[in-house]
Amino acid sequence: MADRILSVQGLTKTFNIKKLSIRALTDVSFDIRKGETIGIVGESGCGKTTLGRCIVRAVDASSGRVLYTGTDGKEIDFLTLKPREMKGVRKDIQMIFQDPYSSLDPRMTVFDIISEPLRANFPRMPRVEIERRVKDVAAKTGLNTSYLKRYPHAFSGGQRQRIGIARALVLNPNIIVCDEAVSALDVSIQAQVINLLKSLQREMNLTYIFISHDLSVVEYISDQVGVMYLGKLAEYADTLELYSRPLHPYTEALLSAVPIADPDTVIRRLPLGGEIPNPANPPAGCYFHPRCGYCAGVCKEESPSFTDAGNGHYVACHRFGELKLRGIDYSGD
Ligand code: SF4
Repeated sequence: MADRILSVQGLTKTFNIKKLSIRALTDVSFDIRKGETIGIVGESGCGKTTLGRCIVRAVDASSGRVLYTGTDGKEIDFLTLKPREMKGVRKDIQMIFQDPYSSLDPRMTVFDIISEPLRANFPRMPRVEIERRVKDVAAKTGLNTSYLKRYPHAFSGGQRQRIGIARALVLNPNIIVCDEAVSALDVSIQAQVINLLKSLQREMNLTYIFISHDLSVVEYISDQVGVMYLGKLAEYADTLELYSRPLHPYTEALLSAVPIADPDTVIRRLPLGGEIPNPANPPAGCYFHPRCGYCAGVCKEESPSFTDAGNGHYVACHRFGELKLRGIDYSGD
């Protein structure tokens, strides 16, 4: 893929807790082009946050590769780097967290919060340069520089998330993992923050991995979308392709739950029965089969492979070629 900045290959993460072995991620693979956004969607517990954390090495993956192409054109595998080496490249990949109320230290001023990554990565950077960079990034994120001496409790949720974004940007990264970055915000504030992320992306040529359970938000911001179920990618495609032609029954069910602001559009809701299975004891065959209305005998025995259905559209379903999903057009055309 031209302009590829990140390639996630076969990423797998197993948590061993006492005698339980919990497979949080299984063989997740995708590529991202520089300056684009990949949205990762799925229910709570599907592994999307673990995926983001494994990519930035906040937790260590059990196996797989995360190949990053730096500005010098060299490709490095994050997962093989020693902690000291990882520290050297971590400034290139930053994270924005879900909850702007708990992710900011209440005892630090906004200036200290935003400047902390600079001080940690460049201990000899002169104070005047730190101040210049913090003020620059505050202006970019719409924070008044007079706010820098205040503490987080003085700010609303939207302003706090702008502080979190400024902190992620201050090291001038190439990739940002946005982990449910707008989920805790009111809808009108969500729109402001998403538009801010989009304008920063254009200005700084940023690449986003946007993790969310909100399919409307993901459709708006993403160039490609990956749908996760129980630690696996169920479907992956360009956004328009996936929203207008879902091939996996799980994606179809998720899309049918998206509200559409058009009273003339008739939507047939496809509610999912049951709960997401226990990852410590996943079902045999296709992980989705206990909840799938299209389940056949093979689905209970064999795990479907992640297959190229054409047009860059990948799906993990034995029956994708024969099924006529009820298909509602979500493309807005
Ligand atoms: Fe449903 Fe079978 Fe496809 Fe799994 S493989 S999603 S159970 S039709």
